[in-house]
Amino acid sequence: MSTDTPITDATVRDVVIVGSGVAGLSAAVYTARADLEPLVLEGPEPGGQLTLTTEVENYLGFPEGIGGMELIQNGKEQATRFGAEFTHGTVETATLEEQPFALELASGETIRTRALIVATGASARWVGADGEDELMGYGLSTCATCDGAFHRGDDVLVIGGGDSAMEEALFLAKFADNVTVVHRRDELRASDIMAKRARDHDAIAFRWNTELLEIHGSQEDGVTGATLVRHPDGHPTAKLESGEVDHETVDVGGIFYGVGHVPNTEFLAETAVELDEAGYIRTEPGMTTETAVEGVFGAGDVMDPDYRQAITAAGTGSMAALDAESWLETREAAEHASPPLAEAELDD
Ligand code: NAP
Repeated sequence: MSTDTPITDATVRDVVIVGSGVAGLSAAVYTARADLEPLVLEGPEPGGQLTLTTEVENYLGFPEGIGGMELIQNGKEQATRFGAEFTHGTVETATLEEQPFALELASGETIRTRALIVATGASARWVGADGEDELMGYGLSTCATCDGAFHRGDDVLVIGGGDSAMEEALFLAKFADNVTVVHRRDELRASDIMAKRARDHDAIAFRWNTELLEIHGSQEDGVTGATLVRHPDGHPTAKLESGEVDHETVDVGGIFYGVGHVPNTEFLAETAVELDEAGYIRTEPGMTTETAVEGVFGAGDVMDPDYRQAITAAGTGSMAALDAESWLETREAAEHASPPLAEAELDD
């Protein structure tokens, strides 16, 4: 597999795809099949969110489901087969005012490209509880499939009320003695099927209208406990001043965050690519992946605050590839068109 392709400052690519999750891979397959020889930049979370998932049951074409990692590996092989190249690199800044675009990487290298597909996805959100900076990775985790096995026989908390939290809880229930889902409201956001699976599981309990205020422990001992707050109307941390919030300390050996994701668009903040209030790329109106900057296209979770599914990410990845291909063709045609006749010539 052609990972770690050397980067030379002089090369100008037709297409660079930033991000190697399902959207980036789908864009890579399409642009590679169109002979555009795409370069895929694999960032700090290569393969994206699917590599942190166990089974993917709702991706079309796999009646028995498929492992997230396997789906990503298959996609990478498929893109490589058609000529896509992969290299590791995190984009720190993007200069998009003129052609070719320039991407400055954390390594100090610069990549130049005519078309850019941004498929950087979204990363796990943190709750903001006291102690999380110190204990992330020491019993506090955003990935049950990565760290769940360390919690055999423990009591653990899962924070959140969406599908991610249910999935984390169900996975953790294979190892932990007791899993408690802590949710800030009294109603789950998760899909009915995931909520039912979690509710029906003997080892999974729920604490409603409750939030995590503080995490106890140390890097030597790991997580040892947590302070939870509760208010009957929900969102207790917002009501701490009211004096109506109950505090409780519980002993736990692990805490898992499943509270959604934030889009990875920091490197676009100073560019003309439009972002919404939450940082998601705004694509142009209509069925397109075009952004406010001509030649820059958005694909996958980074431009999709609503659906956020593997299959929709693959779909927008292929759309971005087709949009980029057609933009490059139009641009090339315009460059080779004969120049307009000068006024003097017209008078003759
Ligand atoms: P989500 O649907 O946005 O849910 C995030 C949950 O975390 C919500 O319950 C939210 O509470 C809670 N939350 C957010 N910020 C919080 C904070 N600071 N403190 C405490 N709680 C907080 O995100 P998701 O679960 O990651 O799912 C995202 C998308 O991926 C969804 O479309 C989902 O269906 C999909 N997904 C599907 C599967 C599957 O089908 N197997 C698995 C994972 C994800 P509120 O409810 O009060 O807002």
